[in-house]
Amino acid sequence: MTDDERRRPRRQRGRADQRQPTQADQPGQPTNQDRPTTNQGQPRQSPPSGQPNQPTTTQGQPPRNGQSGQGGQQGRSGQSGQQGQSGQSRQGRRSGNQGRPKEQGARPAQARPVAQVKGQRAPTTLKIIPLGGVGEVGKNCTLLEYGDDLVLVDAGASFPGVDEPGVDLLVPDASYVRDNASRLRGIVLTHGHEDHIGGLAFVAQQIGARAPIPLYGSPLALGFARGRIEERKASRLFDPRPVSAGQRLSLGGLTLETIPVGHSIPDAMALAIHSSIGTIVYTGDWKFADMPPEGRKRLQELGREGVTAVLADCVRIESPGHTPSEEGVAKAIERLMRGAPGRVIVTTFASNVQRVANTINTAHRLGRACVLMGRSMERNIGVAQEIGRLQIPEGALITAEAARRWPADKVVLITTGSQGEPGAALARIAAGEHRQIRVHRDDTVIIAASPIPGNDETVSRTIDNLFRQGANVHYSRITPDIHVSGHAAYEDHKELLEMLRPRFVSPFHGEYRMMVLYQRLAVSLGISEKRTFIPELGGVMEFGREEARRRGSVPSGQVLVDGLTVGAVTHAVLRDRRSLADEGLLVVAVTLDRESGRIIGAPDIVARGVPGADDGALAVEAKARVRRTLERGRRGMVEPRLAQDLIKEAVATYVLRETGLRPMVLPVITEV
Ligand SMILES: [Zn+2]
Ligand SMILES: [Zn+2]
Repeated sequence: MTDDERRRPRRQRGRADQRQPTQADQPGQPTNQDRPTTNQGQPRQSPPSGQPNQPTTTQGQPPRNGQSGQGGQQGRSGQSGQQGQSGQSRQGRRSGNQGRPKEQGARPAQARPVAQVKGQRAPTTLKIIPLGGVGEVGKNCTLLEYGDDLVLVDAGASFPGVDEPGVDLLVPDASYVRDNASRLRGIVLTHGHEDHIGGLAFVAQQIGARAPIPLYGSPLALGFARGRIEERKASRLFDPRPVSAGQRLSLGGLTLETIPVGHSIPDAMALAIHSSIGTIVYTGDWKFADMPPEGRKRLQELGREGVTAVLADCVRIESPGHTPSEEGVAKAIERLMRGAPGRVIVTTFASNVQRVANTINTAHRLGRACVLMGRSMERNIGVAQEIGRLQIPEGALITAEAARRWPADKVVLITTGSQGEPGAALARIAAGEHRQIRVHRDDTVIIAASPIPGNDETVSRTIDNLFRQGANVHYSRITPDIHVSGHAAYEDHKELLEMLRPRFVSPFHGEYRMMVLYQRLAVSLGISEKRTFIPELGGVMEFGREEARRRGSVPSGQVLVDGLTVGAVTHAVLRDRRSLADEGLLVVAVTLDRESGRIIGAPDIVARGVPGADDGALAVEAKARVRRTLERGRRGMVEPRLAQDLIKEAVATYVLRETGLRPMVLPVITEV
């Protein structure tokens, strides 16, 4: 199970069981002290400027051994102080609740004024609304609604499946946010993977906000997002604000605290969402391995302070045990590199900056220079270098051109294409079609990724091609330690739930079965089933301090991006494309006399994908039927629209009977 790029969408949507709310909502007496007002040192920096650099490459000589240049860890500000949500305020609320009747009437009768002024009553519930990423893997997007404040967490994209011909991208439907655009306080990115940032530009375009939307994220996530946003010419829609781990963001009445977690991209963050209802931990994509110690420490603290709900990435719950760390992969790659007689070709996800950096450093240590191949590989490493997240030793990178003059056993190629994507560097190299690189008998190929479900065939074909060219290929099925996932496995989830002991849980970032498995895990740990919620796309989950329930839904779904158009591809268009692909097309051209309405000459048929319909018996009979249909018992005008319908009906019925196909029939009527 992997993380980014060419992820196949899982299409089925989780039909969550329609569990009834267990009790009426029990709003407490809101207190002002619940309302966090602090905003500790939120730096209002400008985003990293300029175009993403190309990584520094040199044409130089093979480097000396013994240098290592591990990517510099960016300083973490480590602000993990507790503010806003003190245990005291929780206590205060609890005692305030005592003796209140459990009834709807306890809700403040008056709707709050639209423009909420600081110091007024804090809302008593926080609504969590998934706009993507539940019941599917891809286009993650979660809306937080707290009183008048809206905050979006991530805005990802997913890639179309075979049943969406001609569609480039699927992005969340943001119409609910659009209808409430003035209430949107910002978008917070948990990390820089495509399934979390790929839909940003499209979502902002749908929202159509008047002012740039504040966009919070790690410098790396913002750097990756910037490329995607610029591609869509949407830069002016965003106001990027870099955040660091441990920081607290005040977004309307909500305080979002960032917690560093392990993942397959650097600087991934979980969010602790603090409000009057307590703390909700939104894990983002995460694993314990590679989690900075302060991340684990903070999660432990939150567990002790009390957690109202956990919303967890559950995509890898089917895997037993714990997910291992990146270190093992680095060791495996080093082992293979040491034993390689000639050139080494490593392919992995371009967003896995740490793995790429480790590979560069290992190569450098072993006296090899690296070539980065593939646009996203160069761009991502360039961004990481530019923001100071990655330092590459002098001379560690060379150009592909220079590499041709180097001895093979001094060269490492790091390429995109780990999913066998036809356009990516690896597939071209494997097929012998790369402009600069040919595979040789002594080459060692390391595919440091596992195929995302749906990509097995393309990956297998690439591996076959590499073997065909004589290379020695390592892939995860035969050399398992060359790849680890970025997502928590079963035991990690168990450990986190035991650590946080939340009142409510809701699995996110997974297909339906994964969400059910997560729910079962929670139940096995003593969380009653009625306190677990399998989210639905667009389904509102309303969390109070003591109670949670489903509460209607907002418009949701997916917007299809087709080349340059957004949303223009409707389901009707898709249906047409599918029918064209599966059943073919018949164009029936007929000329009618404007005066008499009679058919002039013979009808013409152009067929695509329907055997025998261009010429042959099928065509002859279809044409005869068209003529008979238009002439049968008719005197005077045949209205062209009616003629179209008659032609469609006659041809479709006949072709279906003869061939079993339902081609799209397009009558073209010319009047003379
Ligand atoms: Zn991710
Ligand atoms: Zn993800």
